[in-house]
Amino acid sequence: MRRKPITAWVAATAAVVALFCPGPGALAQERADNHVAIVNDGIAEDHAAAIETLVETAWRIYVEDLGLKLPPLITVHLALDPAAQTRLYTDGQADVFLQVPSMEKLAPSSKSGVFHIYGFCHELGHIAMYHRLKTVTGIHPDVAEAWAHLCGSIVCDEVFAKKGPKLWPEPFDYGKAEGTARIRRAIDKRRGPRSEPSDFDVAVKAFWELHLLAKRKPFFAAADACLESRPTGAEFLPRFLEEVRKTTRKQRLPGFFPERLLQRRFSFDPGPPDLGAAATFRDLKVDEAKNQAQVLHYGSEPPDSEVRRSIGGTGYFQLFRTPTDGKTRLTRIELFGCRYGRSSDDDQEVDVWVCDAEGKVLAEHRLKYRQLNRGESAWFAIPDLKAVEVPRHFFVGVFFDATASKGYFLGYQTQVHGHSYTGTPTTGLALLKGQDWRMRVTVEPARK
Ligand SMILES: [Zn+2]
Repeated sequence: MRRKPITAWVAATAAVVALFCPGPGALAQERADNHVAIVNDGIAEDHAAAIETLVETAWRIYVEDLGLKLPPLITVHLALDPAAQTRLYTDGQADVFLQVPSMEKLAPSSKSGVFHIYGFCHELGHIAMYHRLKTVTGIHPDVAEAWAHLCGSIVCDEVFAKKGPKLWPEPFDYGKAEGTARIRRAIDKRRGPRSEPSDFDVAVKAFWELHLLAKRKPFFAAADACLESRPTGAEFLPRFLEEVRKTTRKQRLPGFFPERLLQRRFSFDPGPPDLGAAATFRDLKVDEAKNQAQVLHYGSEPPDSEVRRSIGGTGYFQLFRTPTDGKTRLTRIELFGCRYGRSSDDDQEVDVWVCDAEGKVLAEHRLKYRQLNRGESAWFAIPDLKAVEVPRHFFVGVFFDATASKGYFLGYQTQVHGHSYTGTPTTGLALLKGQDWRMRVTVEPARK
């Protein structure tokens, strides 16, 4: 049976998100010999079976050899869809998604150019980190990618050592092609005359050298100790380095990571909004409400409950402008959408921010998943919001810490006005391309 392609839930990057999962405790014992569930929509059986063996073997290497923790069950969603791009990603919790337009894309990497075996090991590396973070926000994306690259490459070597070339239906030396040899080759290549290395290259080299210095076991023991303390994304790398210092008993480590990777600075992508340009707020609608209150929104098409999305690892933001220069209070924030996922996540928190035009937080509000609306997409007012005085230009943002199994589908319109962003107040805001969130706010003159 053809399943609908996954359009509703989309990862923000190749990787995302945090949620607490039980460690491989009780459940793991019940499923002692199986940590992988395959949901297959059209991939040839021999390849699906190879992927199941691959992910099971990689799971055991992460947990039993490297001493990291993974959820007891990883669900791998495979889809063959001629209309799709080749894509492999995770929600960072316990689900991995592979979509390919044709079976040729699953050929050995020398033919297809796609590193699937490494790729699955890489996604498990993301999960090993993300599912234990308090919240994923604040980690430099290149640090997160470099971590998964290092783990994925090391685990790929180990999978090859255990399963050999015949793991894959078309046997090949994926250890050599997709494992740590690739990292060493890349580092050697950059020793020659070169252009400026990217942040990703710098982070990969840093993790690689740190892992050589600390030795593999202490390196991963330090990572496990760091994750055990439930760091946020922003805290992960500094705390990890602290743990490496402890396990290696070194007072000082070489400065492998430059400051810009250790601490993420707030930035706008592509740049701060142009508040002065007439075009920026041309589509802003102001509806008069009761008692001098006004509702601000950008809706120029009626909401469509089917046009909605959830993005992991990031928040949804929208920029507003008050109708006058006078003192103004924000009294209501509404979203058009609906919650999805299990009720066991009822106690998970949602962050709501009101920020100034530079992204500085003016007010923060929290609510629980149980307070969100379910069912059909509809207008939903954030409950118990305290009124906050806002400047002429301000952002409203919400963060659901979404995964494939919990989150909020937020409606959007495709007529783009350039006021919608993704991000957080710690990491920065990136203009949302091709879509404009359905959010609206109520403001009123501030009382003297
Ligand atoms: Zn990745």
